[in-house]
Amino acid sequence: MSLPATNITCNACHYSGSTGVAFGLFKYQTPCGNITLPRDLGWCNTCKSVAAIEDTDQAARYESLKDDISGLASDLAEEIEKAKRSRPLLRRLFSKQKPDNDEIRLIRASLACLNEELANPSVLASYLRSERGAKCLSCGSSEVFIFPQIPAGIDSFYSEERTPEAIGIKHPGCGGELYATTSELRLNIRLTEKRYSLDGERIS
Ligand SMILES: [Zn+2]
Ligand SMILES: [Zn+2]
Repeated sequence: MSLPATNITCNACHYSGSTGVAFGLFKYQTPCGNITLPRDLGWCNTCKSVAAIEDTDQAARYESLKDDISGLASDLAEEIEKAKRSRPLLRRLFSKQKPDNDEIRLIRASLACLNEELANPSVLASYLRSERGAKCLSCGSSEVFIFPQIPAGIDSFYSEERTPEAIGIKHPGCGGELYATTSELRLNIRLTEKRYSLDGERIS
């Protein structure tokens, strides 16, 4: 998969970063299985760069959990269909036995666990209540802030123009203005999963 990224540059120094840092698959590892890690683009004072930052907004976290749950529900339905189709025809017609295998049991357990957390949070309670500050997903530092929305008016990837638009943020430690420009390159996204603990520490 390749996506156009946005370059972030400074008008007072040679700093250059890319929104591509937030591309890819980010997950939290939880006792209920892996869940999507909601994130934003921001600045990390330790990396001294644009970075992917945890989104600590409670509504965003609940929404993301609900999306994961409906994703798992359709995965479960799909696995059950697959298991049914793999049965010999006569057994398919006459067996009252429900399809069951390791994959189905795993998804079912994760789904039950996440539904329970949604209704009555326990292992995800401090995560859903946003009890700590956001961390940088590159280095784990809490010296971070979230960027405002990248201006919607920047040139499309297919445009001939590359006009820098101010994003309304001063380059920390430098004081220059940060600008957004559509990248000339599409980034190839390796769909490797980055996994984090609920404390925001990188696991793998
Ligand atoms: Zn600068
Ligand atoms: Zn960092």
